[in-house]
Amino acid sequence: TAKNKAAVKVALFEPNLLNARRLHRVLAAELQDSIENNEMVLHYQPIVELATGKLLGVEALVRWQHPTRGLVMPDEFIDLAEEIGAMPNLAAWVLQTALARLRQWQQTLELDPRFTVRVNISATQLQRPYLLDDVQRLLLAEGINPSALVLELTEYSMVTGNEWDLYSFQGLRKLGVGLAIDDFGTGYSSISYLRTLPVDGVKLDRSLIGGPTDGGASRPFIAAILQLVKSCNLAATCEGVETLEQAAMLTELGCETGQGYYFGRPVPAADITSSWLESFQGAPWLAVTAQP
Ligand code: C2E
Ligand code: MG
Ligand code: MG
Ligand code: MG
Repeated sequence: TAKNKAAVKVALFEPNLLNARRLHRVLAAELQDSIENNEMVLHYQPIVELATGKLLGVEALVRWQHPTRGLVMPDEFIDLAEEIGAMPNLAAWVLQTALARLRQWQQTLELDPRFTVRVNISATQLQRPYLLDDVQRLLLAEGINPSALVLELTEYSMVTGNEWDLYSFQGLRKLGVGLAIDDFGTGYSSISYLRTLPVDGVKLDRSLIGGPTDGGASRPFIAAILQLVKSCNLAATCEGVETLEQAAMLTELGCETGQGYYFGRPVPAADITSSWLESFQGAPWLAVTAQP
């Protein structure tokens, strides 16, 4: 009977659902305390100038060093943080930590004068009217030139149509902070953003050049996108560069900077030493002609 079927369904699915809900609740509670417990860490991934191989900056990427679950990646907790209202705290911690680290590097390492730290900004952060004040205050507190900071905004965070967004954008721009569109070429793309948003750079999503299943988009397609970005006077970075051949191709196509496992994985701050910096010398991909 229908009643029996319903009973079976419940018996089959409820335990999983309950477990999922329980895990969600436990994680949410743990996440609330994670900053206080010093469990959040930033790793930094190199970004290199393709024409020279010089290290031009790093992207700060947050991880949750969980006492029992190990290193939890941001894709597994950013949405949860948004959901439980923990994002403003986390975001402020990320900005503060990245800028304090940058100041330390500026004082102890020989960085390229164009070196920037790139920080990801979530949709809700952009909608907070305090973002501009937070950024301004933190830059001032650390004594950092605004141009040494680049904020990466996902396209998704810009389709909300909230007027604070544009207010924040323009204010940050005026302050001298760099702004870049992240993950360009994914689901939320809108070509018109390239012309209408006051940004100075675009980061092409890694799905454009690689990916284990489809082998990535063709060279003419990438060339066209880079052309488009250039026609808007924006600087292009490509993420997800994993091979010498990809680096060679992007260089030939005029992409300014690259980021990906080929150049280096995200590393903890302790790994960023003068010998790490010295490893970014030369550009072996310049000697290679990429296959058409
Ligand atoms: P994203 O900003 O697009 O960052 C690039 C992601 O690609 C990072 O993943 C990085 O580790 C990964 N990646 C870099 N090079 C390669 C490569 O060659 N191959 C492959 N397969 N992957 C590569 P991660 O660290 O797991 O971060 C995922 C996303 O989480 C980020 O994507 C960003 O949207 C978000 N996120 C990370 N940190 C923060 C943060 O502090 N605040 C906010 N709001 N979001 C963050
Ligand atoms: Mg990013
Ligand atoms: Mg990205
Ligand atoms: Mg991405």
